Amino acid sequence: MQNRWDPKQAAACGDELELRAYSSRLLGQDPSLVLHGGGNTSVKLRRTNLVGEDEDILYVKGSGWDLADIQPAGFAPVRMAHLLKLARLHRVSDRQMVNELKTQLTDAGAPSPSVETILHAALPYRYVDHTHADAVLAISDSRDGEARIRACYGDSVVVIPYVMPGFELARLVAERFPAEAHAGTRGMVLLQHGIFSFGDSAEESYLRMIELVAQAEDYLRSEGAWDLPAPPPAEPPAAPLAQELAALRRAVSAQAGFPLLLCSRRDPVCLAFARHPELGRIGQQGPVTPDHVIRTKRLPLLGRDVDAYAAAYRDYFARQAPRSRSPVKMLDPAPRVILDPELGLCSLGRSAGAARIVEDIYRHSIGTMLRAEHLGGYRALPESELFDVEYWELEQAKLGSASPPPFAGEVALVTGAASGIGKACVDAFLARGAAVVGLDRDAAVVRLHERPDWLGLQCDLTDEAAIAAALEQAVQRFGGLDMLVLNAGIFEAGTRIEALSGAAWRRTMAINLDANLSLLRECHPLLKLAPQGGRVAVIGSKNLPAPGPGAAAYSASKAGLNQLVRVAALEWAGDHIRLNSLHPDAVFDTGLWTPEVLEARARHYGMSVQAYKTKNLLGVEIRSRDVAELAAELCGPLFAKTTAAEIPIDGGNERVI
Ligand code: ZN
Repeated sequence: MQNRWDPKQAAACGDELELRAYSSRLLGQDPSLVLHGGGNTSVKLRRTNLVGEDEDILYVKGSGWDLADIQPAGFAPVRMAHLLKLARLHRVSDRQMVNELKTQLTDAGAPSPSVETILHAALPYRYVDHTHADAVLAISDSRDGEARIRACYGDSVVVIPYVMPGFELARLVAERFPAEAHAGTRGMVLLQHGIFSFGDSAEESYLRMIELVAQAEDYLRSEGAWDLPAPPPAEPPAAPLAQELAALRRAVSAQAGFPLLLCSRRDPVCLAFARHPELGRIGQQGPVTPDHVIRTKRLPLLGRDVDAYAAAYRDYFARQAPRSRSPVKMLDPAPRVILDPELGLCSLGRSAGAARIVEDIYRHSIGTMLRAEHLGGYRALPESELFDVEYWELEQAKLGSASPPPFAGEVALVTGAASGIGKACVDAFLARGAAVVGLDRDAAVVRLHERPDWLGLQCDLTDEAAIAAALEQAVQRFGGLDMLVLNAGIFEAGTRIEALSGAAWRRTMAINLDANLSLLRECHPLLKLAPQGGRVAVIGSKNLPAPGPGAAAYSASKAGLNQLVRVAALEWAGDHIRLNSLHPDAVFDTGLWTPEVLEARARHYGMSVQAYKTKNLLGVEIRSRDVAELAAELCGPLFAKTTAAEIPIDGGNERVI
């Protein structure tokens, strides 16, 4: 446990609320304490209201904020006096609790207060910090968890048995805590859930959290359960995995009812856990803290029988739903974590960010479960308790209800992605929620974006082995391929046929035609497994319907590509793959067109640059972005029933019309 308190940064905080935000971030930035929106913190401050009355206000973490980057605006101010009265009630429904918390806010624009607000109010300390620290969970989730927690902490913490978070937990704490706390009390452990620390200052509360978690680590060390044996090195897969991964993703997406990304990891820790001889017992109990259930589901799928997993999930729902406090509707029965001896750890989500959250949570869970195993056996909560949290409306609300973007859970591959129309396509597909793989011979493609839904790979498209390797990497990252944008091309013009060398001809054909054959052929088995059908958008050229002199190789290559795509549309319709082409003209905001070249061309025609750029019937300028947006739409629902279409995007051209 590392103490991250920095006196300089703390001194720079203007008031107690800023200090509260600062020490909350210190907790949130340590993944061994909390992960992705887990945990919560508060501070009790005295404020004078508009009519001159002094009020005690609880500033508690607002939902939708993550401790890792919380700001003062992320804390919801709630009137303490009312919260303390609520804590004395016998029963409050979720709906009543949410209503009471909202109506007792002193700032109408504040976020919704945490579901643990009443519990924070009930603890008689100025600062209260709550985490789901790995080390504490490893002890508490072991066979004799409660006895071990008491052995670790003595009577310096109050131990609360597991109850469902929310009002029930707040009431239990309000009852038990005052009876059991004393001058030496430094914290509170919620068995199989997490730990609280508190203090008069932000620093005291924070340092106690660090000390308490360090004490748990020391306990694990003393029991020989801290340093886990190093897993054997991961051997490379015996054969490419892309096909198997894409088939698995298709099966999971079919059960979910919508496409999911599948991110696979074969590092030593993941592989060793997926091959653990006791995995059937350890990995089939449940998450290390109930909060994780909404991300990971109660159980991972072991192996690849997705249909059996879904059937078991339906049974679980049928067993538990009748005893639910309020009517519940079944969530999709697809797994979010898969452990397979060959594929390692697979995490699934409707976005790459969501899949990464699942992965982070499960990686930490592996360590926690293995440490609990060293203490006599990992032991999760019973399925009824986990069901209640999984189907708790206030917990599901954390995931947000915004409708997903059109390409959520889907993967697009764009060639020539580092610049021009390709780069604009990357943006258009990312904006529609797709994970995007960009290929380019320019190494700049690798650093085009720094985000979980982007994978840029340097790739020479004339090298078939390089294409296969790139696809393998892409599928290991995202699980498959749904959409392909054939964009990469070269344009070498200004040579009449009588002077055209065979080398120049072959150079153009190699990129503009041959490479696209390789791409189509290599991508076909993956596109065939796309959950919603494969889609290919082809960036053709106006030169195809209306060629110009001096561009024989370019025009012929685009015509060849066009014919290739038409045949593919015939051959692949039965595989639910549709291919459509765009024929752009005069797109000048690409790497090919420097201001000097543009000026020279305009002068050649005796035109101004602006007039040259808009020399089409509609008098409009065609930008990379215009082409990219249309390419993305070709892959979307508007064109769901169209294949082999050729659409000009040229502002209207008399020769084409
Ligand atoms: Zn918690």
